[in-house]
Amino acid sequence: MEDSINQCAASASAASVVEAGGGRMVSVPCPLCGALRERLITIQNSYRVVSCAACSFVYVNPRPDDAALARLYLQYLPDKMADPLLWDSYMAGVFSKAADVIVKYKRAGRLLDIGCGYGFFLSEMKRRGGWELFGMDVSRTALSYASSQGHNAAQGTLDTVRHPENSFDVVTMFYVLEHVTGPVAALRAVKRILKPGGMLLLRVPHTTPIVKLLKLLGVANNLYDPPFHLSDFSASTIRRGLEEAGFIGIHTSIGGFTTPPETGKRLFTAAFGLMAGAGYSLSLGRFAMPGVAKNTIAFKP
Ligand SMILES: [Zn+2]
Repeated sequence: MEDSINQCAASASAASVVEAGGGRMVSVPCPLCGALRERLITIQNSYRVVSCAACSFVYVNPRPDDAALARLYLQYLPDKMADPLLWDSYMAGVFSKAADVIVKYKRAGRLLDIGCGYGFFLSEMKRRGGWELFGMDVSRTALSYASSQGHNAAQGTLDTVRHPENSFDVVTMFYVLEHVTGPVAALRAVKRILKPGGMLLLRVPHTTPIVKLLKLLGVANNLYDPPFHLSDFSASTIRRGLEEAGFIGIHTSIGGFTTPPETGKRLFTAAFGLMAGAGYSLSLGRFAMPGVAKNTIAFKP
């Protein structure tokens, strides 16, 4: 479906994308609710980041089509991912917190980590014991490292690696959902491969509050990282997406912070994390500070 509101913007920004991806731009309705009306938040890397006028979902529109995105991903490797050991120390706090959350609900079983990268979360779960572990990722570089660590990980996406229905007790997705073109369809695909009562744990960035603050301060940034990040989720839009896909028992919490290698960034992240954690505890889980990455869990009925 073409959104006529976006026609001008689509042709205006197409030129820069032709350079980047060599492909076509497509305008999309809100990926969460299907509405066509949107408000421009900002332009980053020549891409328009908009919020849906009906449901406030934040997404990139227009965006490269699937073929152009696939070409762009051939060159994509987040800088933090370049060195496996750096990535391990960057994410260790996140992975150990997520593992704590999972074992509160599930003590053992079959677990699939979608977007497993180098396999460090699989290693964390292996240390906990009792799990039959599987990974999946698009990056061959990351997967060959994961295999060298003894992990069973397949190359591909949910569309290409077809696991049978009702296969897993737990599925995890760390920083994956913001990359996919159809987040609700991806969540439905996850629900299909979960066993009844199975648990999904996902982690997504929430960049919009920080971008709005920096805009007020006049600080230029490209924190949305388009076109690789196509969506930005708040606690309420992630809930809505999960409900659309048929999940129940949805709960979002914060905790488990990244450890950037640079001292300044590390101190900032730690301070921000502690502040967010304190707010979350003091409000008995009602206040999850905006701008902080969140863990959301949900269950298949
Ligand atoms: Zn919407």
